[in-house]
Amino acid sequence: MFSIAIDGPAGAGKSYLADKLAEHYHLIHVDTGALYRTVGLYVSKKGIAKEDTDHIVASLPEITLSLSFTEGGQQVILNGETVGDKIRTPEIAAYASAVSAIPEVRTFLLETQRQLAREQGVIMDGRDIGTVILPDADVKIFLVADNRARAKRRLAEFLAKGIDTTLEEVLADVEKRDHNDSTRKTAPLKPAEDAILLDNSELSADETVAAAIAIIEEKRK
Ligand code: C5P
Repeated sequence: MFSIAIDGPAGAGKSYLADKLAEHYHLIHVDTGALYRTVGLYVSKKGIAKEDTDHIVASLPEITLSLSFTEGGQQVILNGETVGDKIRTPEIAAYASAVSAIPEVRTFLLETQRQLAREQGVIMDGRDIGTVILPDADVKIFLVADNRARAKRRLAEFLAKGIDTTLEEVLADVEKRDHNDSTRKTAPLKPAEDAILLDNSELSADETVAAAIAIIEEKRK
């Protein structure tokens, strides 16, 4: 089964790129960050603090997660209900970052991700796809951009959704999450040895897609 892994820090444009590549190659796009965000949403709704690892782990058996893929993209279904945009807030991003450092949470989500790639060709984006989830992916891209460029993109997304925030706040959030993701013990954010680095600080969204397609085509030769 053909698979493409896209990893990289927050706001590098992984999701947009993966969407476009999924269209181009007729594969499904699995946004794995949405799974961590959904666990974050569940525990935050229960009133569990994001530092309270014991309670977070204890609540995992209450969570049933599945993904559905429609024209509008991926939907996460949490205990029978579609979560929609509720997972796209800065607060839930901070929860996702905290829960993602807990090994039991990563194990809990591992099989869901691998199973999807066994069933069909996928483009999966996240932090540990090339290193842990799909170590045998056909193509691995590690997408990066400088911190300010990433924060500006995230800010534009928030403002478009009517979420009131500032560049400084978004920059601080992005830097904190990168730090958490890169320094955690389990499945830290880092390029797989065979990943190809793509820096899109100076590239437009379309140029990034074109650069990724060139990388994929070269690999497929
Ligand atoms: O990609 P996104 O910003 O939606 O991810 C939310 C959080 O989930 C990240 O900050 C990261 O902590 C975590 N994550 C992860 N491993 C993945 C995908 C996301 O740890 N494969």
